[in-house]
Amino acid sequence: MTKQINLATYTSIKIGSIIDVEVIEKPLHVDAFLLGGGNNILASSNTPKIAMLGKVFDFLHVKDTLVHIGGATPSGKILSFVKKHNIKNFELMQKLPGTLGGMIKMNAGLKEWEIFNHLVAIKTEDGWKEKKDIEFGYRETDIKGTIYEATFEIEEGFDNELLSMFKKLRDNQPNLPSAGSCFKNPLNNYAGKLLDEAGLKGFRVGDMAFCKTHANFLVNLGHGSFDEAIELIELAKKRVFENNGINLELEIKIVDSRRV
Ligand SMILES: Cc1cc2nc3c(=O)[nH]c(=O)nc-3n(C[C@H](O)[C@H](O)[C@H](O)COP(=O)(O)OP(=O)(O)OC[C@H]3O[C@@H](n4cnc5c(N)ncnc54)[C@H](O)[C@@H]3O)c2cc1C
Repeated sequence: MTKQINLATYTSIKIGSIIDVEVIEKPLHVDAFLLGGGNNILASSNTPKIAMLGKVFDFLHVKDTLVHIGGATPSGKILSFVKKHNIKNFELMQKLPGTLGGMIKMNAGLKEWEIFNHLVAIKTEDGWKEKKDIEFGYRETDIKGTIYEATFEIEEGFDNELLSMFKKLRDNQPNLPSAGSCFKNPLNNYAGKLLDEAGLKGFRVGDMAFCKTHANFLVNLGHGSFDEAIELIELAKKRVFENNGINLELEIKIVDSRRV
């Protein structure tokens, strides 16, 4: 089945065009870019083939000592479920927008709290794969296939204090449309600090800008475009390399058929 999606409204950065998306209804090999909640992507109007998981992968259930979560399940729904069932270790999902598949693929998290910390296994088209067989690090994993489902160990004791701490940390984040942090923090440094030192905090091209309050958030001020975003990304990489000899690595994923 295919359906139409307007990436300019679907993605958190509000950029992109209306595209046809293949909806995946059962585990199979997918030969297309997998779209989750669209909270970490910057798409051009020239995308490769795109697929997304159907509603059948939006589920949560408890079996023995594990919680099973479908790849299309949004973070807000996961958080409500674990709160209701008094399960801990998911508090980091407070205001972390995404689906489980996207969060696992990106090893999403904040500081030392990462989605992989309590992951047990994932299910792809090749079957179940345990955490020990997956390479993962700061905002990256070597997962090649589609994440249809994952399991986590159940630990009792939803932590409201931790939840408040995440809420507080996120209160500083800009409310403008963005795809989260634009660049990964280089080892022992901060991308935001480097961008600020390069004179790019608040720097604007058209309707795209590095945020005035949070330099590493590339924000859409209204009608920002893919090309404006790319111009800023390239400028930032160039300036930071000239100033500090550091090659900034993108955290956001660029979805453009000319770049794959
Ligand atoms: C305001 C804001 C704050 C944010 N804060 C944080 C933060 O604190 N920490 C953090 O880590 N991130 C943060 N992000 C980024 C984003 O929330 C995460 O990267 C999240 O994991 C994206 O999930 P998604 O479902 O939207 O994935 P998408 O953006 O749709 O996709 C991201 C990647 O995951 C892949 N993918 C998606 N679904 C699957 C699947 N089922 N199987 C295999 N691959 C898949 C895609 O192909 C793509 O490569 C923030 C974003 C915003 C807008």
